[in-house]
Amino acid sequence: KTIIEFKNIVKTYGKGEAKTYALNGVNLSIKQGEFVAIMGASGSGKSTSMNMIGCLDSPTSGEYLFNDIHVENLNRNQMALIRRNYIGFVFQSFNLLGRTSALENVELPLVYRKIPAKQRRVLAYEALKKVGLESVVNNAPSQLSGGQQQRVAIARAIVTNPLILLADEPTGNLDSIKSVEIMNLLKKLNEESGITIIMVTHEEEMASYASRTIYFRDGHIDDSLKKGYK
Ligand code: ADP
Ligand code: ADP
Repeated sequence: KTIIEFKNIVKTYGKGEAKTYALNGVNLSIKQGEFVAIMGASGSGKSTSMNMIGCLDSPTSGEYLFNDIHVENLNRNQMALIRRNYIGFVFQSFNLLGRTSALENVELPLVYRKIPAKQRRVLAYEALKKVGLESVVNNAPSQLSGGQQQRVAIARAIVTNPLILLADEPTGNLDSIKSVEIMNLLKKLNEESGITIIMVTHEEEMASYASRTIYFRDGHIDDSLKKGYK
């Protein structure tokens, strides 16, 4: 089943002389359960695409179907509902609350959803177990390593059981050993739970954990940047 489909997506910023085509006619299709890496030079349109996929931004023209819903016709509140119900976000900087425990950090999205405290605890603990952190659930992020902090952020992103996980340079702040650990974790989550993962990375080594890589150049998808392309 196709979960994400871009049909001739154009996104411009500014007007007149200053008008920039961040995305210039992008067609893209991602199936449920895929693990996709997005690569491309700085300014090629990766972040704009991620913001669009994550329903944080609307296209200037074209169609975006998320799980058969026409996102380009939705208003801001409807887009926020899609984010809340179906999409998890992970960032380069882990964006955790430093002084509260890992468990409380992971509970936060459930607090917003008004899930009762007891159930929150159970779900957050389960999510932390999935990322291998059951022994440090009461530690504050400041007492955890960078790799562990990113695991907490991943647990927070999946605790609501989203359809897709968007990871924007998830290993950008980690050394190569911790990066590989995080990639193995993402791969395991993708294989075991079937969650669709879309990840931006600058490193071919990290992209190699995905089942497919999409290369951007100047607001286009450019297959000629693929390794071994003829
Ligand atoms: P990448 O993530 O690959 O570095 P972006 O999607 O951030 O690329 O940017 C694509 C193009 O759109 C760049 O030329 C960038 O300068 C421009 N752009 C992105 N966001 C904005 C914005 N908010 N205002 C103006 N131009 C923008
Ligand atoms: P809330 O549930 O607090 O009202 P939103 O509806 O704005 O939050 O956002 C829903 C999801 O989108 C959250 O999981 C949040 O992490 C993510 N999100 C919100 N704003 C941004 C942003 N500027 N960049 C990346 N992700 C965001």
